[in-house]
Amino acid sequence: MVSNKCDIVKKWVDDRLNVTVPVQTVPYSVYERAGITWDILRTDLIHPVCSGNKLFKLKYYLLDATQKNYTKIQTEGGPWSNHIVATAFAAKEIGLTAMGIIHGDEPTEKSRALQDAENYGMELHYKGWGLSTTNSDHFADTFQIPQGGFGHLGVKGAKEIIPQKLSKEYSHIICAVGTGTMLAGMSMAAPNTNVIGIPVLKNTNITLPIQQLIGTLPLRLIHDYHFGGYAKKTNELLNFMNQFYSISKIPLDFVYTGKLMFAIHDLIQNKYFPEGSKILAIHSGGLQGNRSLTKGELIF
Ligand SMILES: *Cc1c(COP(=O)(O)O)cnc(C)c1O
Repeated sequence: MVSNKCDIVKKWVDDRLNVTVPVQTVPYSVYERAGITWDILRTDLIHPVCSGNKLFKLKYYLLDATQKNYTKIQTEGGPWSNHIVATAFAAKEIGLTAMGIIHGDEPTEKSRALQDAENYGMELHYKGWGLSTTNSDHFADTFQIPQGGFGHLGVKGAKEIIPQKLSKEYSHIICAVGTGTMLAGMSMAAPNTNVIGIPVLKNTNITLPIQQLIGTLPLRLIHDYHFGGYAKKTNELLNFMNQFYSISKIPLDFVYTGKLMFAIHDLIQNKYFPEGSKILAIHSGGLQGNRSLTKGELIF
């Protein structure tokens, strides 16, 4: 019975993750003239709900939970968290009960993310704006997945985002950073490549936690592209996303990948990358976040 359940979970995850994801070059003469190749790994195409890095980060937690015979899982996140939605969806699909500890007070009007999570059957609890989950939020019969999947099992899964044959082809691998779990995975997958993270939060301090998790692998954070903080945006960012779509036909989200691609564009313009650089940017999905924009702000 038990191994059967594990097999089912493993198959469900693998069926979604063992797909070949396209790599697309951004076709823009300005980059060509600068001697830069800029490719994008389209992990956003993996799945409409569990898109991008989310299922990779959840993979080993879900397997561990089933192996240990848990039927309930719990995780935490903010009211707009893609991680909460992905956890709720995966739990429903593989037959686990999911609980979400949401930062802040119960809103009078729930965000689309929280509505989705509830529709997938997740039980939501609001913990106010305190700093961390207290032990009393933890239940012995419930398997804990850290916020954003930040932990060894999350990094182990994130490492698999980069197909092995790609990990040596690029001089730079760049991704957006929330908790830094994906970035830590990139750094482990490609230890001889320049791995760069673009934090989308203001004043985020994740260098130390990442080092505690994976040791001192080389990676660099560039803090200049958060646009005021998490889920903050400007017209300049939205205009860039529209222009980027016009030249590449690749849609971006304004919370993560819009800021990431803006950063790369800006860094190329400012000659940050030496001539001959080959850049791989991770499109980590999150497009559902654009639903909170006013209709017409984006052309896609
Ligand atoms: C969650 C998320 C990230 C951040 O991933 P971390 O591992 O928490 O740094 C980046 N991009 C998108 C689209 C996400 O949903």
